[in-house]
Amino acid sequence: MNVHETEKLYAAFEREGYGASESPDGADVIVFNTCCVREGAETRVLGNLGMIKHLKEKKPNLIVAVCGCMTQQKQVAEMLHKRCPFINIITGTYSLGALPQMVKAIESGEKFILDLEVNEAVPAGVNEAVRSENVNSFVNIMYGCNNFCTYCIVPYVKGRERSRKLEDIVNEVKSLSSRGVKEITLLGQNVNSYNDGKNDFYALLSELSAVDGDFWIKFMTSHPKDLSDDVIKLIGRERKLANYIHLPVQSGSDRILKAMNRHYDTAAYMHRIDMIREFIPNAGITADVIVGFPTETDEDFRSTLDLVKRVRYNNLFMFVYSKRNGTPAAIMDGQVDEKIKKARIAELITTQSAIANELASAAVGKTYSALCDGRGKTATAKTYDDRVIVFDDGGEDMYNRFVTIEVTDAKNSKLYGKIRK
Ligand code: SAH
Ligand code: SF4
Repeated sequence: MNVHETEKLYAAFEREGYGASESPDGADVIVFNTCCVREGAETRVLGNLGMIKHLKEKKPNLIVAVCGCMTQQKQVAEMLHKRCPFINIITGTYSLGALPQMVKAIESGEKFILDLEVNEAVPAGVNEAVRSENVNSFVNIMYGCNNFCTYCIVPYVKGRERSRKLEDIVNEVKSLSSRGVKEITLLGQNVNSYNDGKNDFYALLSELSAVDGDFWIKFMTSHPKDLSDDVIKLIGRERKLANYIHLPVQSGSDRILKAMNRHYDTAAYMHRIDMIREFIPNAGITADVIVGFPTETDEDFRSTLDLVKRVRYNNLFMFVYSKRNGTPAAIMDGQVDEKIKKARIAELITTQSAIANELASAAVGKTYSALCDGRGKTATAKTYDDRVIVFDDGGEDMYNRFVTIEVTDAKNSKLYGKIRK
C-alpha cells in the first residue's frame, strides 16, 4: 500500500517540475514515506534519518521531509522534531498531495513545517500516480479502516473507511488497461467492505470484469468476516478475476481471535477456506499470522500451527506481535516474553517452510498461466494463483507478456519452469 502511496507522491512532485534522483547524495529533497504498523519499520526510519543527518551537514540546503502513518501520531512527530531538528517538514497520511507546496515554502525561506491535519475526503477522479515500469499497477478502491483489531494502529492513523466512486475506479482501470497494464491489484484495508453508497464490492468486481482488455485483477486485503460467498463464486466464474485470495487469519485460537476483535472464529474461517476451495479451481491462498499476542499460551500457539497445517497456504506472512502505543492490546495484561515470541515464530517459519516445499514439489509437471514480470536471462513470471516461477527466457524478451509455463523443477519452495507455447 505504501509503495502505491509513494507512486502518487512521485506524481505530485513531477507535476511541480521535480524529477527523481538516482541516489540520496544527488538529491535536493529527500522524503521518507513511513509506516508504523510494526516497530521494525519505525526503527528503520530512525536509522535512515541518522544517516541523512551527515548529508545535511555537508549540504545545508538539502530539504528533508518525513510523512506517512508513523508521523501522523502527534507524539511521534514531536519526538522526531526534537531528536532530528534538521528535518524541515513533518506531515502525516492526509497531506501527501500538498508536500511539493510545503517543499516550495521551505525553498522560499520557511524553516520548519508541521502539518498533521486530518482530512478524510476521498480523492475524486483518476488517481494520478507515476507508475514504475512494472507489469502490475495498484488501484486504491478505499481508504481507512473501521475494524479496530486490538493490536493494530491503522484505524488511528488512516481514519474511517471511505470508498472511491465506482465510476472513478472503472475509469482508472480502463486507462491502465489501455496503457497495456496486465495485472491490476485493487487496494484497501478491507476491500470486502467497499461501498460507495450505491455499489458494494461484488458490484465493483462485476463491473471491472466487464472492462475490455487483456489483464487480470487481484485484490487485497480481504477480511474473513466480510468475504462473501457471492464474491467467492464470482471469482470462480470470471476469467478476469485471478484465482488468488489473501485472507489473513492472525491466529488459530478462538480465544485469541476474540481478544484481537477479529469477529470470526476458526470454524467460520475454515468455512471460508472450504468455499474458496470448492468454487475457485486451484485457488492460491495466502495469509498473515501474528504470534505472541498478549496472553497467547503455548496451547493457543499450537492451535495456530494446526490451522496453518490444515489450510496449507502457498505463502504466509508471519509477524511477531509488536506493541503499538494507543492500541488496546498494548496495555493488556499478559504481554508475552520476547524469547517465547522468538521461539514461536521460528517454529511457525519451520512449519510453513515444510508446507511450502511440499506444495512446490507437487507443482512440478503442472502447467500454469502466468504473466512475465521480471526480465533477464532468468526471468520471473507470476501465475494466475500468485505463485512465482523462475524460467530461462531463451533470450526472447517475454516481459509483460502472458505465458504458459510448465514447472520442471522445485528447489525448496522456489519453482523453476519452461515456456510452453
Ligand atoms: N488490513 C489488513 C492489513 C493490515 S496490516 C488486514 O486486516 O489484514 C498487515 C498485517 O500486519 C496484518 O494483517 C497483521 O498480521 C500485521 N500487524 C498489524 N499490526 C500488528 C502488530 N501490532 N504486531 C504485529 N503484526 C501486526
Ligand atoms: Fe488493522 Fe484490523 Fe483494520 Fe486490518 S482490519 S487494518 S488489521 S484494524
